[in-house]
Amino acid sequence: MSNIILTGDRPTGRLHIGHYVGSLRRRVELQNSGEYDKIYIMIADAQALTDNMDNPEKVRQNIIEVALDYVSAGLDPAKSTLFIQSQISELTELTFYYMNLVTVSRLQRNPTVKSEIQLRNFEASIPVGFFTYPISQAADITFCKANVVPVGEDQLPMIEQTKEIVHKFNAIYAPDTPVLVEPKALIPEAEACKRLPGTDGKAKMSKSLGNCIYLADSADEVRTKIMSMYTDPLHLQVSDPGHLEGNTVFTYLDAFARDEHFERYCPDYANLDEMKAHYTKGGLGDVKVKKFLNNVIQEELEPIRVRRAAYEKDIPEIYNILKRGSDAAREVAAQTLSEVKQAMKIDYFEDMELIREQSARYKGL
Ligand code: ATP
Ligand code: MG
Repeated sequence: MSNIILTGDRPTGRLHIGHYVGSLRRRVELQNSGEYDKIYIMIADAQALTDNMDNPEKVRQNIIEVALDYVSAGLDPAKSTLFIQSQISELTELTFYYMNLVTVSRLQRNPTVKSEIQLRNFEASIPVGFFTYPISQAADITFCKANVVPVGEDQLPMIEQTKEIVHKFNAIYAPDTPVLVEPKALIPEAEACKRLPGTDGKAKMSKSLGNCIYLADSADEVRTKIMSMYTDPLHLQVSDPGHLEGNTVFTYLDAFARDEHFERYCPDYANLDEMKAHYTKGGLGDVKVKKFLNNVIQEELEPIRVRRAAYEKDIPEIYNILKRGSDAAREVAAQTLSEVKQAMKIDYFEDMELIREQSARYKGL
């Protein structure tokens, strides 16, 4: 079996360090590992429209932002297919057929959709398109027969839903030779990276919550955001014992800091454990920890920032990359759709057996 990756992001804003540790950094590693036959990276504009239906300009403007973040972070169009979801019309067809395989109550039980409905105040009237986006995500994952989907933890229920659809589709329509491939989620190992909290301490850094450090933020913006970050409200004096639980600065260090960073920026400690021990004992101030975090994050973001500045000089080339990627993705999607239609017995004009059998029947043979 081939090793195929699909993953992506909604063009609802620039990408932030939550995306980076949750998925983007991993994608670049996987891309460069040489272990994958194909890597598809999708800008999910059609999905973004399900909760931004009245703001198409926002979605349109953010395609280039996400694409610039991709290439700046190290996704290489020569190795990965970067494409735009809405340009692959086969995806909507697949979604339509998969809808028959999912119940309303199953969608209502999806915990991510539940919390997103709350977040967007959709309780009273949920757009049908939004409600069904887990089904369209199944189309996104299956069109290229992806078996690996590197995502943040919030996406686990979506992968589960996709697996169910694949299982049901194959069981009903293709029991002998399965057409669709069951994917598995690849979520970060480190707890902090699974769902990076926002700079305000809220459960998740998210474009929709405005609590983000963006990959494209300037060095000054990053520093300002870090220095005003949420820490431990009980840690008033430097001498007070500090708490690590819910302390976002330490969560970010968990996600980013390596031992060599201590050597470079904070040689008082050999590693993060030592720094944490001092903090919980008392005597280590938040400002010192934040300054260290700032150094660590700046080191990670600087090369991305430099590459972005170069790519920003040739926007038409970025669109060329997306166009080439979308053309390639469409070819693959057309092939899968034709297999799906054949399995579902809706390929009338290619089905010579059907036409032969019926004409024989009507001739009374
Ligand atoms: P939106 O608010 O528009 O939903 P978002 O910030 O949640 O935006 P998405 O485009 O929905 O971003 O997510 C893209 C990918 O990044 C997904 O794989 C998701 O799991 C991952 N991701 C998003 N936010 C985080 C986070 N804070 N920590 C870890 N992974 C994240
Ligand atoms: Mg999201």
